Amino acid sequence: MAAPALVHSIFGASGAHRWVPCPGSIQAIQRFYKEHPDHNPENLAADEGTLAHELSDVLINNPTWPLEDVNADWVIDIVKESHVWKPEFEFQFDFLDMLDICLRYRDYAQALAEDALESGDDIVVYSETQVAMPRIHDNSFGTNDYAVVNLTKRHVDILDLKYGRGVFVDVNENMQVLSYAEGIRNQIKQDHGVNIETYRGHIYQPRHNDGENIASWEFDKKRVNKFITIAADAAAKAELPDPPLNPGDKQCSFCEAKGDCKALAAQMTERLQAEFPDIDESVASYSANVEGMSDEELSVWLDRAKPIIDWMEAIKKTAYARATNGRPIPNFKLAVGRNSYRGDAEALEFMLGDDAFEEPKLKSQSSLRKAVGSKKFTELYADYYETIEGKPTLVPATSNAQEWVPEQAFKDALDEMDEADL
Ligand code: SF4
Repeated sequence: MAAPALVHSIFGASGAHRWVPCPGSIQAIQRFYKEHPDHNPENLAADEGTLAHELSDVLINNPTWPLEDVNADWVIDIVKESHVWKPEFEFQFDFLDMLDICLRYRDYAQALAEDALESGDDIVVYSETQVAMPRIHDNSFGTNDYAVVNLTKRHVDILDLKYGRGVFVDVNENMQVLSYAEGIRNQIKQDHGVNIETYRGHIYQPRHNDGENIASWEFDKKRVNKFITIAADAAAKAELPDPPLNPGDKQCSFCEAKGDCKALAAQMTERLQAEFPDIDESVASYSANVEGMSDEELSVWLDRAKPIIDWMEAIKKTAYARATNGRPIPNFKLAVGRNSYRGDAEALEFMLGDDAFEEPKLKSQSSLRKAVGSKKFTELYADYYETIEGKPTLVPATSNAQEWVPEQAFKDALDEMDEADL
């Protein structure tokens, strides 16, 4: 079992995508936590990811496990050692699915080591290892998921497991990978006296909403050195009394200070002002009749909506947190919530019998998968569920998601009807 990182590095690898471009975010976040000491957002996805990392580490360190067919309890026994474990997770996550993904991740990781071993090279493998990056800052470190160091070829493969679905993680120019590259370079120099020349970073993100994201990026020591210069400069700036803030979609997206950051507010206003003249032009040509907007006109609005909506949502969240912490927001107040009611099931059953209850409802496929385990579900019950196509969603044309074409869906439905007639 990997040891939990006992001390969190504010100049850590996992936050490099934020604090390197925006050094001021470190003090902004510290200020935010000082003002909101109780802020502890429930992050189920992050906890699930931590459990998957713990499981992967155990599987990598025990390459023959599991020795036989196992159920979800086997996985739970392993992951409940994690510092994030809560008993309710037992019913919230699909542990057999987690096992399946972590086994595939282990295959991918082992293949990297086997490739190096087959050529007879001298290799070192690291799993869930904390590495330090003192060239960036004395307090810069992070926990690397997996790395295969080929001492003979002076090459490192760095693997990062991403269990999340929502945010696509690009391997190219990935600052977390570059940070680990520096950490492992440093470790190898200390332990083996070898200077690493070349690197390959891998992102293993099998569950991304738009489809599997498993990709790699090759770079050399010059690229690492360039990153270190930039990151060390950012770390030094972060400690200035008035550190620079530099808003941008990537660094701001998960920044805790997003909801009251003045730099982001100024940038959003500038963006709105810069973008709205274009919109003004198209709006000026709108004719005041009952015809709705054209497709192109809708696209103009849609294109600008997401960053604005995300920013506004963050502002609403921060204002709510302040108000509920006893810090009233001028012109707003907290209103009493809508009541809900919890019945005394035993008393109501005694008085009303079956009338007190709703008809039993069939569990969804994912709830049943969680209850009986994914593998058992697939073997025994999957055939009793028919596939009902999901509602298509509107996403930017650049998304990796498979396109839903209305004519194709109509043709597929006709083909199915023909087959049924045969
Ligand atoms: S919201 Fe953006 S600009 Fe503001 S501190 Fe965070 S990363 Fe920096």
